[in-house]
Amino acid sequence: MSRAGTAAGHRTEALPDLLDVVVVGGGAAGLSAALVLTRARRRVAVVDAGQPRNAPAARMHGFLGSDGLPPAELLARGRREVTGYGGHLVDGRATDVRRLSADGPHGPPVLEVGLADGTVLHARRVLVTTGLRDDVPDVPGVRERWGRDVLHCPYCHGHEVRDQPLGVLGGTPEAVTHAHVVRQWSGDVVYFTDGGTLTADERRRLVAHAIGIVDDPVTRLVVDDDRLTGVEVATGQVVPRSAVFVRPRVVPHDELLTGLGCATHPSGWVATDPTGRTSVPGVWAAGNAVNPRAQVVTAAGEGSTAAIAINDDLVEEDTADADAAFRLGLPAPVRDAV
Ligand SMILES: Cc1cc2nc3c(=O)[nH]c(=O)nc-3n(C[C@H](O)[C@H](O)[C@H](O)COP(=O)(O)OP(=O)(O)OC[C@H]3O[C@@H](n4cnc5c(N)ncnc54)[C@H](O)[C@@H]3O)c2cc1C
Repeated sequence: MSRAGTAAGHRTEALPDLLDVVVVGGGAAGLSAALVLTRARRRVAVVDAGQPRNAPAARMHGFLGSDGLPPAELLARGRREVTGYGGHLVDGRATDVRRLSADGPHGPPVLEVGLADGTVLHARRVLVTTGLRDDVPDVPGVRERWGRDVLHCPYCHGHEVRDQPLGVLGGTPEAVTHAHVVRQWSGDVVYFTDGGTLTADERRRLVAHAIGIVDDPVTRLVVDDDRLTGVEVATGQVVPRSAVFVRPRVVPHDELLTGLGCATHPSGWVATDPTGRTSVPGVWAAGNAVNPRAQVVTAAGEGSTAAIAINDDLVEEDTADADAAFRLGLPAPVRDAV
């Protein structure tokens, strides 16, 4: 048995020498996959660094049946469900994934997952669900208020700030579109060009949609009593706002996948088929690590889809192994079910 420990020492568990699946990333995508796989009686470990993307938000919205739940509570429930079916949770950060054997009828992939604390796990398949990083605009106050009253997704939090004075920090064509979308939730929206230029067409359409425009560069967000109260611009004017939307630059946590040589789209994001299968045999990916648009419910769905595809792939391999043994007159290989 190999030992899985943690840098923080929270958890040390005996793990099988060869797991069916290592899931790297224990957010909505990874835990949903692990739930499906453990219920399919697969030996599964979820390695998680414990920094889900939506951690700064007090509540999670738009997840049917769990709307308004604190994000950490959803994951706590998921972890309990996964361990309830015999899954292993490993607190830690995976630093590399390597293929130890070639693909083929007698050489199915064995993948090695190395963790920062020196733990090494071996698995027949690996699913990477490591999420992404939001790079927010470098405006004083934005990072501090991120996920509270500096928001990015009106579908997640627009309803909570409906009819309030809202701002949209601009500078890019996508931000202009964002302002029109945010307008769906409030009749009082101001678009801050933040020193960027608007085309005549963009300006007219904003005015037509009753969106205010402030052209001066933004200097900082104003916070009183732990609440956003306004946006200060270079003239010193403070435009009263109670929430501001931004479009962060999203950067996938895909180093494990690119390190394996997974093919990418022209955009640079790792490419998968509709089940999450990457170009590297035995390696799947799901959620924000490969899909910037995935909401919690989408990430969970992608994790579930990948899990079913992975189990099907393992069933195919198990059947081929059994058939090969049968033809040689040998007993069928035994694999421990959970
Ligand atoms: C402020 C904010 C609020 C949001 N609110 C909502 C909302 O209300 N509703 C909604 O549907 N969506 C919301 N989202 C989007 C939501 O966060 C994502 O849809 C969701 O987190 C994607 O799930 P995931 O499993 O792909 O990634 P994540 O939830 O980010 O999980 C990835 C996990 O992998 C771990 N990890 C990363 N690298 C490694 C590694 N090398 N080794 C081990 N573990 C690793 C991370 O620590 C993390 O725990 C919000 C996003 C933000 C930024």
